[in-house]
Amino acid sequence: MQMSEAGAAIPMVAPAPRHSRQARVVWGDKVVTVGGDAPVRVQSMTNTDTADAKATVIQVRQLALAGSEFVRITVNTPEAAAAVPEIRERLDRMGEFVPLVGDFHYNGHRLLTDFPECARTLSKYRINPGNVGKGDKHDKQFAQMIEAALKWDKPVRIGVNWGSLDQDLLTSLMDENGARAQPWDARQVMYEALVRSALSSARRAEELGMNGDQVILSCKVSGVQDLIAVYRALAQRCDYALHLGLTEAGMGAKGIVASTAAMAMLLQEGIGDTIRVSLTPKPGESRTQEVLVATEILQSLGLRAFAPSVTACPGCGRTTSTTFQELAKQIDDYLREQMPLWRTRYPGVEKLRVAVMGCIVNGPGESKHADIGISLPGTGEAPAAPVYIDGQKATTLRGEHIATEFQQLVQDYVERRYGLAAGAA
Ligand code: SF4
Repeated sequence: MQMSEAGAAIPMVAPAPRHSRQARVVWGDKVVTVGGDAPVRVQSMTNTDTADAKATVIQVRQLALAGSEFVRITVNTPEAAAAVPEIRERLDRMGEFVPLVGDFHYNGHRLLTDFPECARTLSKYRINPGNVGKGDKHDKQFAQMIEAALKWDKPVRIGVNWGSLDQDLLTSLMDENGARAQPWDARQVMYEALVRSALSSARRAEELGMNGDQVILSCKVSGVQDLIAVYRALAQRCDYALHLGLTEAGMGAKGIVASTAAMAMLLQEGIGDTIRVSLTPKPGESRTQEVLVATEILQSLGLRAFAPSVTACPGCGRTTSTTFQELAKQIDDYLREQMPLWRTRYPGVEKLRVAVMGCIVNGPGESKHADIGISLPGTGEAPAAPVYIDGQKATTLRGEHIATEFQQLVQDYVERRYGLAAGAA
């Protein structure tokens, strides 16, 4: 085949638009919309014992400060249900109005009935149709949970998980499949069971009186290709807002990469209205890591901006000292630490682009593309670090205090560019 170097203008790409209905997750004056034209929302889940109100409040607050727009808590026992109003009250007293979502399995129908203040102070209920009761109890207990949602005017997430899939439904679909002239692959039967469980439960919730725009669906699996297949089908068959997440993603790089691979594909196709990254924290690791990853996924795709981005080169044989890595880390940490304050003081600062580069090869070029960038001297280069602001060389830093001086330049830039917009002094 003849190859041609020249071609038509290369089309730009962007995430496809979403077509879901919009749900509202509310606490007091705080309204978090999900779906429709709302931004893709970030959520997270605590791993404290909910009955320990104090510990749960601390973690909810950390997750919210990291960027989680609602936080799910386990409500699994009478003690946990009894603690929910106290958790809500403590958060309110701290000025933290992040909506709380109750995660129910097995006994949710009882807890929501026996603990009305728990039902009132939660902003959304997660119902797993595979865990609401077996046989003839299933429909009755599911209905009880929907009645609680109607009574307290709460949206629900019907959250199916392949680890707790409705076995009666799966068995009947397997029988149905056995009767086919050309039976589906067992995996396809499982996909169908997940999607059918979510859709039939949503339809049942509507028959019981719920408004369809107060229903959010999820069908979580732990395989990347499985998640893509299931969510594509779900998005084709309904317009409920969709909660997206790879369940039991795992630990560290494996969990981050698998979650990102699956969610990025779907989000690019316009599928997913709220996301959660189900990471297993390493011992001692902060629970907020899952929020950080979720925000980075959305920011990398250009769907949202949460915090200034730092472009840093990977370093190579031209950067034989650790100076450049230290500076990149220092600036990244500094920007993240400032965000809780900057978010309100400097509107728009989350779109700031900072570059920290290791040598003259790509340093000046990349720094010029950023709002503010520094090109550090590589091995053998003159010990000078030019700083570029808005594409122009602004100054050159030298000596031992380059890091502190550059940090100050970033602070001054933020103050100048975003402080005026906020009317800050
Ligand atoms: S900018 Fe310089 S130090 Fe950084 S990766 Fe490229 S060549 Fe290496």
